Amino acid sequence: DSSNTKLPFQAEVAQLLHLVTHALYSNKEIFLRELISNASDACDKLRFEALDHPALYEDQPDLDVRLTFDKAARTLTITDKGIGLSRQEAIDNLGTIAKSGTKDFMSRLSGDQKADAQLIGQFGVGFYSGFIVADKITVESRRAGLPADQGVRWVSGGAGDFEVADITRAARGTSITLHLRDDADEYLNAWKLKQIVGKYSDHISLPILMEKEEWKDGENDQPGDMVKTGEWETVNKANALWSRPKKDITAEQYEEFYKSISHDFEAPLAWSHNRVEGSTEYTQLLYIPSKAPFDLWNRDKSAGVKLYVKRVFIMDDAEALLPNYLRFVKGVIDSADLPLNVSRELLQESRDVKAIREGSTKRVLSMLEDLAKKQKTAPESGEGKVDVGSGESVPAPEPTEGVTDVVDKNTTPAAEAAAEYADESGKFARFYAEFGAVLKEGLGEDMGNRDRIAKLLRFASTTSDVASVSFADYKARMKEGQDAIYYITADNLAAAKNSPQLEVFKKKGIEVLLMTDRVDEWALNYLNEFDGTPLQSVAKGAVDLGKLQDEAEKKAAEEAAESFKPLLEKLKEALKDKAEDVRVTTRLVDSPACLVVEDGGMSTQLARMLKQAGQ
Ligand code: ADP
Ligand code: MG
Repeated sequence: DSSNTKLPFQAEVAQLLHLVTHALYSNKEIFLRELISNASDACDKLRFEALDHPALYEDQPDLDVRLTFDKAARTLTITDKGIGLSRQEAIDNLGTIAKSGTKDFMSRLSGDQKADAQLIGQFGVGFYSGFIVADKITVESRRAGLPADQGVRWVSGGAGDFEVADITRAARGTSITLHLRDDADEYLNAWKLKQIVGKYSDHISLPILMEKEEWKDGENDQPGDMVKTGEWETVNKANALWSRPKKDITAEQYEEFYKSISHDFEAPLAWSHNRVEGSTEYTQLLYIPSKAPFDLWNRDKSAGVKLYVKRVFIMDDAEALLPNYLRFVKGVIDSADLPLNVSRELLQESRDVKAIREGSTKRVLSMLEDLAKKQKTAPESGEGKVDVGSGESVPAPEPTEGVTDVVDKNTTPAAEAAAEYADESGKFARFYAEFGAVLKEGLGEDMGNRDRIAKLLRFASTTSDVASVSFADYKARMKEGQDAIYYITADNLAAAKNSPQLEVFKKKGIEVLLMTDRVDEWALNYLNEFDGTPLQSVAKGAVDLGKLQDEAEKKAAEEAAESFKPLLEKLKEALKDKAEDVRVTTRLVDSPACLVVEDGGMSTQLARMLKQAGQ
């Protein structure tokens, strides 16, 4: 009959399913987190749609998620009263991957299980993770607002195809039944399920219910067993993690919450949880990941901060909440002031959102400053290792106005503090290796915080191969009489280090910052000075070493300029289409000549970049 249809999965789904079941095998239990989070999303969507159409509640306004299992049938079922799926939605949403960048993602998989598991985790396999423990999944659903006879049943063995059929289903929402594989017995156990819920889903604001069991002795010497009582109990804390006081939240819970919203397998580097009071009230829980996602440079990528209004989920990728250069930050912002039906357009204009954005930006910068302060040594890497004592360069994060620290600030015993300090000491370098280049975009994007951002930047230099030198470190090491911060931009470290433009600086022992990120040239356009000292490219204009040159050197240079005048004239004439000017230079020691750009001109590096981009 036409209601029962067999359909193939989209090619990527079939591929992904195969990978999921293999690569994620060592982390099986996450399937439950994914399915509960989908159930919770479905309830969030219902609540949101019901703001305009209250009838969607169908006299069933109490939302929850129920877990049941059947030992004999070897099934585990997750049931929600959320928005549900229509037949077409089941086909579209469970048979394809709607995410942009799927192809790109697939092409990055290496076949190395561990690395792939990490990537797959980031990508968020979601629903398909059910197939880690199930060899067949049955989904039954009815969309809110549709009549009972427009329910749908979706069944798949997780290979190439799935089947859909029309069913009659009185209950609104979805139930997902996993037919467990032979080696997944452990999930037919209430204790185990509660343990997993506690680990991954405590923060879900919906109640997650399980049927109470009680022990029943066996008859005629048969072993006893747990039997269901027909009574339901809530097995999670059922209040949003960020709404709880800090002192009631363990580090592990913060980390698990991060993993559940970010799909990251690794713990975050740092987080900050605050209730901000004042004219705009909101709670922020912001995380700095320890690894860059594979799509950090993808411009269409959704932002990582979720917006809630009074615990009601509003939207996932609220770009308006943080500037673009902080797009690596994950977390939740829960506003007490915004209207529940806030739209994206409204978000862009709202004054409350502007305040939230400013407050959250400051908070992230404070977190980074904090990591930078605790960063003591540069990461191991060959020669030129320097100690980055940036303690001075970075001021203690000033308390943001009106922030009530929800943590109870118990005095930490000194020993504990020292241990924590040791543990924290490598984090900033890790952060910088992953996200430093993104942070630099902030110089151009966020004028108001330019100085704070500049203080966080680290570069390689002629004394350090590692990007660990801050402007403040550099300044502290400046030579007597030196009045500029010198830098050079190049495609890579070797090119920068071997540039003839560095010769005189090397000879005089003047440190030069080596800038090799693609974004450096562009970003430095926005930074003319640091803490009163101008930044000067060694590849631009005439290098005036000023007081760093002694009288004899100056005199020699002037004489040379004089005596070479006729030669310069000839060279200028010969190169008149190719070079703006030909000068005698004090820049070089061994090389006969080098190219430089006019001050304020486009550097050769930037010119090359634009040419590459076809401009
Ligand atoms: P994601 O949650 O990131 O969108 P998933 O693979 O977890 O990806 O889920 C895919 C889609 O399937 C969801 O976006 C949703 O449309 C649909 N879906 C999954 N579970 C449910 C559910 N319990 N109720 C309604 N829709 C669901
Ligand atoms: Mg999901």
